[in-house]
Amino acid sequence: MHMLTLAEISRALSAKEFSAEELTRVLLTRIAQVDPQLNSFITVTEAQAIEQAKAADQRRAQGETGALLGAPIAHKDLFCTQGVRTSCGSKMLDNFIAPYNATVVQKLADAGVVSLGKLNMDEFAMGSANESSHYGPVRNPWDTSRIPGGSSGGSAAAVAARLVPAATGTDTGGSIRQPAALTNLTGLKPTYGRISRWGMIAYASSLDQGGMLARNAEDCALLLQAMAGFDPKDSTSVDQPVDDYLASLEKPLAGLRIGLPKEYFGEGLDSRIADLTLKAVEELKKLGATVKEISLPNMQHAIPAYYVIAPAEASSNLSRYDGVRFGYRCEDPADLTDLYKRSRAEGFGDEVRRRIMVGTYALSAGYYDAYYLKAQRIRRLIKNDFMAAFNEVDVILGPTTPSVAWKLGEKNNDPVAEYLMDIYTITANLAGVPGLSMPAGFVDGLPVGVQLLAPYFQEGRLLNIAHQYQKATDWHTKAPTGFLE
Ligand code: GLN
Repeated sequence: MHMLTLAEISRALSAKEFSAEELTRVLLTRIAQVDPQLNSFITVTEAQAIEQAKAADQRRAQGETGALLGAPIAHKDLFCTQGVRTSCGSKMLDNFIAPYNATVVQKLADAGVVSLGKLNMDEFAMGSANESSHYGPVRNPWDTSRIPGGSSGGSAAAVAARLVPAATGTDTGGSIRQPAALTNLTGLKPTYGRISRWGMIAYASSLDQGGMLARNAEDCALLLQAMAGFDPKDSTSVDQPVDDYLASLEKPLAGLRIGLPKEYFGEGLDSRIADLTLKAVEELKKLGATVKEISLPNMQHAIPAYYVIAPAEASSNLSRYDGVRFGYRCEDPADLTDLYKRSRAEGFGDEVRRRIMVGTYALSAGYYDAYYLKAQRIRRLIKNDFMAAFNEVDVILGPTTPSVAWKLGEKNNDPVAEYLMDIYTITANLAGVPGLSMPAGFVDGLPVGVQLLAPYFQEGRLLNIAHQYQKATDWHTKAPTGFLE
């Protein structure tokens, strides 16, 4: 049962091959057996999951037929879940029981989805390796001596190891697409504003976007259908009708214009990943696509701009953790200043403190113009590059990551080396355009992902291309051996 995709589960549940409760129990048992090797879950919500599964079975018995009714998933531990700890991977929120559901959690619950628990992640979603979590690193099921990517590393490892068929994630600079690529999954970061951020703990609010990691594009479409939509509680949610993503999956690709940015194939890219990327292009050509070289000339400025803007927003967002209102509070503070200082110093890990310092510096008087404003100008140039490219082509294709999954600990003493791993994903967040990563082969037995980027609100097109590609190839069906029994 654990090998089934969401779409297959949906069909099996409606054919009454098994009940949601039976499936939930199988997966909970597997999580208990397998997850100690991976550390992908922070909290498993057994009792609540069984309750939700029983409720879904009852709704089906009464004639309801929703595609996700009774389907299991798990949430990245920064989506607030009512009555359940929502830690954001941080000691700061280790004791935080969310008093309400994030809009995404609520929408999925309304659709009848069964949540198995909360997934490990980099602390406050800062990282590309899932090593900065207060709850310890997550391991990649393809090779447990390696990282699964980050910051949605728990989501990626759990889905890749077939502990759960799909999971929510968030992507501020690549945190859905990069871990999806490193674990052989399909991951979608929708357009900024397509999915509500309400109840999603903020890292960098102008870049954060919720999405999902799943086994294929069809499952991403099923989830997006339920997760997308305008939310008056999120002021940056966009009031635009939600497309029929499942219907768009089957459109033929004839005439599709693909752009290959020359900057994506330069220095720093593993040549074997470049080869697999071009092989994926050949496959899409067979399906009717045409290809042309394009340029995103400001791409080289994306990482410096991001590492000013994201920490600046983070330093502001994280100022709310003061030891007073909620979260960690230090023991025996001498006075109020001591309470603030020690609660924050003890509650946040190294990477989070580094970013708060960088961000506070970039926003301080005298440096604001030199760093923050300049970074915002670069952001606009990057957006303009995309707009110009999308006048010529329908989608942009390139590698998702410059390398395959690296060893745990390998980049711990060099944060910049880890920052560089986001080189291909970060531009989409700066511009706000949607991006998808899909499996495209293996290098030394480790998964490689290809990224597709589209104009605003064209998630349907991304899912369509990935689905057609997945009908023609079988990379996405490969699973890490050793985690299947
Ligand atoms: N690795 C990037 C960062 O550390 C992106 C993380 C993310 O998308 N949440 O900020």
